[in-house]
Amino acid sequence: MTDIKTVAAQFALEGRIASIKPLGDGFINDTFVIRTHGGPRYILQRKNHHVFPDVPAMMDNIVAVTEHIKKKVADPLRETLTVIDTKDGKHYYKDAEGCFWAVCLFIEDTVTHDVADTLELARQGGIGIGHFQALLADFTRPLAEVIKGFHNIRWRFIQWDESLQKDAAGRKAEVAEEIAFIEGQRERMLDFWSRVESGEIPMRVTHNDTKLSNILFDKKSGKVLCAIDLDTVMSSTSLNDVGDAIRSYANATVEDDPDYAKVGIRLDMFEAYMEGYLSERAASLSDSEKQWLAFAPLYITYEQVLRFLMDYIDGDTYYKIKYPAHNLVRTRSQMALFRSMDANYAKMQEIVKKYL
Ligand code: ATP
Ligand code: MG
Repeated sequence: MTDIKTVAAQFALEGRIASIKPLGDGFINDTFVIRTHGGPRYILQRKNHHVFPDVPAMMDNIVAVTEHIKKKVADPLRETLTVIDTKDGKHYYKDAEGCFWAVCLFIEDTVTHDVADTLELARQGGIGIGHFQALLADFTRPLAEVIKGFHNIRWRFIQWDESLQKDAAGRKAEVAEEIAFIEGQRERMLDFWSRVESGEIPMRVTHNDTKLSNILFDKKSGKVLCAIDLDTVMSSTSLNDVGDAIRSYANATVEDDPDYAKVGIRLDMFEAYMEGYLSERAASLSDSEKQWLAFAPLYITYEQVLRFLMDYIDGDTYYKIKYPAHNLVRTRSQMALFRSMDANYAKMQEIVKKYL
C-alpha cells in the first residue's frame, strides 16, 4: 500500500502531522485518524473505487451537499462533514497505484450507536435522516449518479430479465415460486417508480446508507448532530432512505433468518422511526411524498428480494455467501418480511398519518 504519510502530506492540513492510526473496520472504505501538533484531528479515507467507480464525481457530490447544509446550521464545522482539499485544490488525492483518498475534519465529542435495538434509538435514527433531508429539501441541483441504477426498479428488471434468460446456474426451475412472487408485484413496483420518473414524487437528495452508525450524536447533549458517510448521496426520491431504514430497523429478526416464522415488521419500531423522521421532515414533504411514504419500505424490501434471488439464479456472483443456499434463504426471509409489510400496509399508513 502507498505510504500513508505521503498520502496525508498531500492535503492542506493545519498543524504538523503527529500520528496516523487506523480507525475501526468499515465495510467499504479504509479509515484513518490523523492527529496533528497544534491543529485539529482529521479523518483520512481510502475510498473503495470498486464500489464507487467515479470518486471525483462522488467528492463533488459531497462538497455540494455539505456546502448547502453549512449555510443553514449554527455550527457549520460540527453539523456536517467538512471536506479538506489537497494542497493543489482537489477534493481527493489519487496515489501512484490509482487509489483515491479524501480527508475531512474529525468531528470531536461525538458518539455513534451500532445497532438500532431500542425504540428510542429507532426514533433517533429517524430524526437523524429526517434532519439531513430537511436541510436538503430545497437542494434541487442534480447530483452525479455514483452507483448506477441504485433503487431504480426499472433498471433492476432489465438485469432480472437477462438473468432469467441466461439461467446461468441452472437454478430457475427450483425457484419458480419465488419468481412468481417477483412477477406478481412487477406492475405495482413500476407504478411507484414511474411516479418518481415523472416528477410526481420529487427528486431530492438521498443519503442511501441510513444505518444508525452513520449518524453522529453530540456527546454532551446526546442529541443527533449530523449524518456522515456521505459517499452514496445522490438525487432520487428521499422516500427510499426511509424504506431502506425500515427494512433493517423494523424487521423482528436478521435479514437472513432461515426461521421465516420469526420474520415480520415490528410496527412499534416502524412507529418510533416515523415519529422521529416526521418530527423533522413533515413540514418539507410534498403531498405525493406523504401519500407514498408508507409504501417505500415495501418497495425497498421487494427490490432486495429481487436482488438476492437474481444473485442465486446467477450462481452467487455478487453477494458473499456463507453456505450454498444462503441467497435463497435471504430471498425467502425478505419475502416473508415483504408479506408482513403488505399485510400491515394499512396500519403503516395510519401511523404515518398520525405523525404528519
Ligand atoms: P461503514 O462501512 O462502517 O459504514 P465506512 O467505511 O463507510 O464505514 P464511515 O462510515 O465514513 O466509513 O466512517 C466509519 C466510522 O468512523 C463512523 O461510523 C464514525 O464512527 C467515524 N467517523 C467517520 N467520519 C467521522 C468524522 N468526520 N468525525 C468523527 N468520526 C467520524
Ligand atoms: Mg459508515
